[in-house]
Amino acid sequence: MAKGGARCGAGRPGYRVKAEQLQRVDIRVWRKRGLLWVGGTNTWSWWRGDEPSGSIRFTVNETSIRLVYIANGKDASQTVWTTTTSCGYGGVRRWFGCPVCSRRCEVLFMRSGRFACRSCQRVSYSSQSGSEHDRLNTRYHRLNAMVEAGKPKWQRWATFNRLEDRLERADYLATKSLMLFVQRLTGKIFTGLA
Ligand SMILES: [Zn+2]
Repeated sequence: MAKGGARCGAGRPGYRVKAEQLQRVDIRVWRKRGLLWVGGTNTWSWWRGDEPSGSIRFTVNETSIRLVYIANGKDASQTVWTTTTSCGYGGVRRWFGCPVCSRRCEVLFMRSGRFACRSCQRVSYSSQSGSEHDRLNTRYHRLNAMVEAGKPKWQRWATFNRLEDRLERADYLATKSLMLFVQRLTGKIFTGLA
């Protein structure tokens, strides 16, 4: 099967839903909250407005994360493999490997009783438009100019390092939105798009 074939694999939902309609786990948020220490078990709660809309327990292992979850009264627990990449500015970044297509991703969505990546779950973002790309691109160039200018004397290193992280993230988002935009125009599927 061709590399992009996993997109048409068995069990892929037949219609698109908006990201806001699904429960998700976001490894970026967990990292920021300091929840990714090996051996730790945490509970993550979802909210819809002020109302709790469910929760999940997860245990972090060396190379996987165990998601303990009940979907519609059925045990939908999954062990999701993880990978790490170096951030480019020191430190490592941890990613989920999508349980369906194995591509690395930061967000998994719950649909039809399992977690999988945006593409496997047919999740659409309202932001997949050219104007969204323009906005992200402008943001990337603004941050890039700030980093290129170097750290002002008065600025703390921690602040400047955060700026570099934001630039890296902006670069990623701008590239991704461009690829999605071109993909929609041409119908060509890019593989390796997280
Ligand atoms: Zn996937």
